[in-house]
Amino acid sequence: MPNVLFAARPERWAQYETPLRDAFAEAGIRAELRLDFAPEEVDYIVYAPNSEVRDFTPYTRVKAVMNLWAGVEQVVGNPTLTVPLTRMVDPALTQGMVEWVTGHTLRHHLGMDAHIHATPGTWDNIAPPVAWDRTVTLLGLGELGRACAESLVRLGFQVSGWSQSPKEIEGVTTYHGADGLRAALTGAQIVILLLPDTAQTENTLNAETLGWLAKGAVILNPGRGPLIDDDALLAALDTDQIAHATLDTFRVEPLPVDHPYWHHPKVTVTPHIASETRAVWSSKTIAENIRRGEAGEPFLHLVNRQRGY
Ligand code: NAP
Repeated sequence: MPNVLFAARPERWAQYETPLRDAFAEAGIRAELRLDFAPEEVDYIVYAPNSEVRDFTPYTRVKAVMNLWAGVEQVVGNPTLTVPLTRMVDPALTQGMVEWVTGHTLRHHLGMDAHIHATPGTWDNIAPPVAWDRTVTLLGLGELGRACAESLVRLGFQVSGWSQSPKEIEGVTTYHGADGLRAALTGAQIVILLLPDTAQTENTLNAETLGWLAKGAVILNPGRGPLIDDDALLAALDTDQIAHATLDTFRVEPLPVDHPYWHHPKVTVTPHIASETRAVWSSKTIAENIRRGEAGEPFLHLVNRQRGY
């Protein structure tokens, strides 16, 4: 019977204990799930990077570390972690992101703010364009970016996307590699960042690349804070090159109270809530990977250490 260590913030245990036990039972796994073991007795670690476990060296027989978060930037470079690292992919995480992205895209596409904040008595009856007259670009076409792209295509938007490797997604014009970025961004009216935080993706949106977008473009960043050069974005908001930025992720979280984004009239801050890992659904992903580990099958959602995501 494998020993499964739950290594996350202590308050998460109350949320996860029952869903994990239920998911193990559903997957036919008999496992000992606990908050503490002697490190050398642990077979799997269910892991959140903000837990106290930082040195994996004493976990001599562990078969895999299973990250509860989709993003792995805080753990992928840990030199003491030499066993397989998996990241979170689950239907609820994807659904949450699709809802956040489509909701905020439609807010800007329809110009809802103008009516929500309209001066009473102002009858400004200029209708927005329909979706097929709006260009939307997704940077990142992985689990989340692809699902969002497909949803935006279903709504009728003109969708482009950019990824590291070539992709084929029905209804989406795709670009890849460093050379494809300019084509993906040129003329985009709404840009959505769903890239991982790696050395290669830092400052993907910077003074130069922001200049490639359509004048008055909107940025949505549910990816990670370092994807944007903050000073360049603030400058682009000042010149109206960018009309609005809706930001869910930041270089420092919580976003410091004195950060200019909080008070900027053209910035909406959402506090890293675009999509969260929900215990019932993520427990099923964890259980399936333990089942695979015990059956000698390959793990799902393995992180590639070289790529950093
Ligand atoms: P994923 O499946 O790993 O997809 C990442 C995408 O980015 C892939 O399409 C990948 O290209 C592309 N990419 C990576 N490096 C690139 C580069 N240098 N140039 C061009 N494209 C590059 O990740 P995911 O599950 O979709 O999640 C994306 C990110 O969302 C996570 O890393 C996390 O930071 C963020 N997230 C945020 C929240 C929130 O609540 N705000 C919740 C969940 C996740 P390939 O397909 O070619 O590999």
